[in-house]
Amino acid sequence: MHLTNLHTHTTYCDGKFSAEDMILAAVKSNFQSIGISTHGPTPFVSEWNIQLDKVEKYIDEINFLKRKYKDIIEVFLGMELDYIPGIGFDETSRSLMKKLDYYIGSIHYLGYFKNGIMWTVDYNIEELLQGINESFNGDARFAVETYYNLISEMAVKYEPPIIGHLEFLKKNNKKNIIFDENDIWYFKAVEKCLDAIKNTSSSIEINTGGIARGYTSEQYPSTFILKMIKERNIPVIINSDAHTIEGIDCKFTEMYKLVKDLGFDSITYLTNEGWKKQKI
Ligand SMILES: [Zn+2]
Ligand SMILES: [Zn+2]
Repeated sequence: MHLTNLHTHTTYCDGKFSAEDMILAAVKSNFQSIGISTHGPTPFVSEWNIQLDKVEKYIDEINFLKRKYKDIIEVFLGMELDYIPGIGFDETSRSLMKKLDYYIGSIHYLGYFKNGIMWTVDYNIEELLQGINESFNGDARFAVETYYNLISEMAVKYEPPIIGHLEFLKKNNKKNIIFDENDIWYFKAVEKCLDAIKNTSSSIEINTGGIARGYTSEQYPSTFILKMIKERNIPVIINSDAHTIEGIDCKFTEMYKLVKDLGFDSITYLTNEGWKKQKI
């Protein structure tokens, strides 16, 4: 089994440890490879994304670490790039894609507050509610459907190697407080999105970051969505969205078991020769 994690953050963004610390944590967990995926730069001010003037240093540092640890672990240079409503992947993100070994396409931003500042779906429930009120006239269903439409649009236009944390809205929807995940319209929105993704080359990430950070008891996406992904034969990859060294392999054993129990026969991983699938 090729143990790996391609979704890890560092102090270049909102991660708590250096890239080298994350690599050493992966070595300690007997990983054969690790990808560093700092939050990419955004065309507006953001505290949790890498600052544009640090990007070159980041690339040099990961490439240096790649060489330093080449006999111990494969290191990949990645980024988690933001697909932004009304913008998509901005010019900087598009040019970065060519310099990286891989990227994760993610949606964090869903709209603008009345003051013109963009809000994210994952910060906290108050911000999510305020965002839904100010961008979607309080219509949570419209907000959720917009989120899934954006993922479809990103997948069809760019086919990101990895689609990050599908169902991220779940993070602040404890006990279905904002919308009911059992509603038929929710199922339909997810179904439409997966039907778009299935015609692309993208893998969907099974992300344990919500569990690692104490927000959710379940991975993103939920098990019922994983069943829908399986029915469509969409490839999956298991990542932990690690922001700390402790989170490097959060619930991986459980996730391998879960995908196997659901009938998946392989998971995607990255090698120096490109993307491959390994049997589980
Ligand atoms: Zn993310
Ligand atoms: Zn992340």
